[in-house]
Amino acid sequence: STVEMLEYMTLIVDRFEMTKGHQFVFTKVFPKHELNMIIDSDKMTQVFDNILSNAIKYSPEGGEILINMALQNEGLIIEISDKGVGIPADSVEKIFDRFYRVDKARSRKLGGTGLGLAIAKEIIREHQGEIWATSKEGKGTTIHIKLPIARYKGGAMK
Ligand code: ATP
Ligand code: MG
Repeated sequence: STVEMLEYMTLIVDRFEMTKGHQFVFTKVFPKHELNMIIDSDKMTQVFDNILSNAIKYSPEGGEILINMALQNEGLIIEISDKGVGIPADSVEKIFDRFYRVDKARSRKLGGTGLGLAIAKEIIREHQGEIWATSKEGKGTTIHIKLPIARYKGGAMK
């Protein structure tokens, strides 16, 4: 169904900040016009909950979590960036594989199954979108999501 993304992402991020993100600063950089998109909002909530959980889980020092949203020619881009431990270059593509975890000992301590991003990738695929990561070890990670422009149904200026 049609979802207005500014309102939707604000709800997701604010709820996350209140329940789990006290020691983090969440910064939202959103456009000045509404973004009506056809998405499965329940499934997309699963995607964003896992990405935000990861941002927190793998940022032991806290820090800023940036949520960036922008409409481009090819689609809607959503980026979630943290200032956490980062991911080694040779692992950055594997994190979307089922059960893959970068540091087995640390991941075991932090809990989880290693399925979160595999599920996210499947849900984004069902939306004909793309998901990928960029990262620098010791600096932080950005998860990028692109949703096709065909799902964009316009939006008035705010
Ligand atoms: P689950 O999500 O099932 O609870 P998980 O978080 O380990 O467990 P994924 O969300 O699929 O599983 O992530 C896979 C792996 O990718 C993680 O174990 C971690 O090693 C790495 N990873 C994911 N997000 C980040 C991030 N923001 N910073 C650093 N490493 C990350
Ligand atoms: Mg996870």
